[in-house]
Amino acid sequence: MALYEYAHDLDTPVHPVSAPDYMPIEQLRALQLHRLQGLIKRVYDNVPLTRKRMDERGVRPEHVKSLKDIALLPFSVKTDLRDEYPFGLFASPMNDIVRFHCSSGTTGKPIVIGNTQNDILVWQNGCMRALAMCGVRSSDVMQVAYGYGLFTGGLGLHYGGEGLGCAVLPISGGNTDRQLMLMKDMGVTVIACTPSYFLHLIDEGMKKGLDFKTEMKLKHGVFGAEPWTEEMRAKIESLTGITAHDIYGLTEICGPGVANDCQHRRGLHIFEDHFYPEIIDPDTLEPLPDGEKGELVFTTLTRTGTPMLRYRTRDLSRIYTGACPCGRTIRTFERISARSDDMLIIRGVNVFPSQIEAGLMSIDSVLPHYQIIVDKEGDLDTLEVKVEVTKETFSDEIKTLEKLRSRIGHAVQRIINISAKVTLVEPHTLPRSEGKLKRVTDLRKKA
Ligand code: ADP
Ligand code: ZN
Repeated sequence: MALYEYAHDLDTPVHPVSAPDYMPIEQLRALQLHRLQGLIKRVYDNVPLTRKRMDERGVRPEHVKSLKDIALLPFSVKTDLRDEYPFGLFASPMNDIVRFHCSSGTTGKPIVIGNTQNDILVWQNGCMRALAMCGVRSSDVMQVAYGYGLFTGGLGLHYGGEGLGCAVLPISGGNTDRQLMLMKDMGVTVIACTPSYFLHLIDEGMKKGLDFKTEMKLKHGVFGAEPWTEEMRAKIESLTGITAHDIYGLTEICGPGVANDCQHRRGLHIFEDHFYPEIIDPDTLEPLPDGEKGELVFTTLTRTGTPMLRYRTRDLSRIYTGACPCGRTIRTFERISARSDDMLIIRGVNVFPSQIEAGLMSIDSVLPHYQIIVDKEGDLDTLEVKVEVTKETFSDEIKTLEKLRSRIGHAVQRIINISAKVTLVEPHTLPRSEGKLKRVTDLRKKA
């Protein structure tokens, strides 16, 4: 029973692994400080780059006496991992490393993360708590269609599912026909993959005349690794009848299982006893108070292989103030709708692809498949949005299609404040993806 003692709402049985989610705040803060102090010492003693940066600032591990003092410490960024490739940021001897992962970065050298046995357990703990938060239990059959290998998605969710006692189907990405066949025949109840790959699965299933609502046992989707919107979630849920959950993570911090949303969908709860969050102003690098929007920064309090001190994620968010009705004491952040690197500047206006997505998905006959193309005509930036619409709509009269096109154009313009050329295309014509989908093509960059 002791494991349940922090659960505020005893009417809702709390999964035993979720006990730390409900830790009393003072106890959580004390634990974080204790772990932070240990981490700083470990990094200072073992990572020359961080020691040099701390020495230059005149900061020593013993100067950190409260959680606020974290602001004294230097940040780390992705290029540190590239510059120190492959092992420069490792804080444990190779003898203690049990597994590597690399980021899915497409250019240059990858970043290499080393996990000790401890790190694998910490990561598994995050994924188990995330899945438990989604309502996944040991009786569930979980299909893991995130990629396995150097990418963290597959193995992360795999260990999480096994840890909870689920029956895990480690199918990895791709081979969509087989995915659908096994999902149906094996009575899969939980699917874990990127939201864009799930859209592809729905699409292919529908092509075969498969009804997700009646022919599948699917209850939960555990979707992450790329930005998606609340409007996209609504589309997915109405097409399939499942509950779509948002899981967040990044390779540098471990992988998936850093944060996840509970049933109240008030942002994503951060497993902050392991991953200490901050929001900073990306220009001044000053910490911002809870409630203000900025760049999300994480310190891995318990990792030993490649611990990260104040790692700048480039993801934009805010930490919510006030308690979540679920009773968890770990804080939540606003779901990530954009990475700072995703921002497009079109005719001088800052535009995030997720804003366009929100506009598109607000219209009924629009399918969740679209592409954004930015180009230049003379000196003027142009924006084109190609979007699939239902088969029925497509066979409507030209006049009706024209009306729909203009409705979509207005819905997008209302949100981003600039006009876009809207091109309606038939179902199944735009690119699909087995992992993270690239929806934006910026042709201005070719010059
Ligand atoms: P890469 O940086 O090479 O894409 P990762 O797989 O580690 O490698 O990607 C982590 C990034 O993916 C995060 O920093 C974030 O931008 C994005 N991401 C992960 N989960 C989510 C999510 N649930 N919502 C939005 N973005 C996410
Ligand atoms: Zn909650």
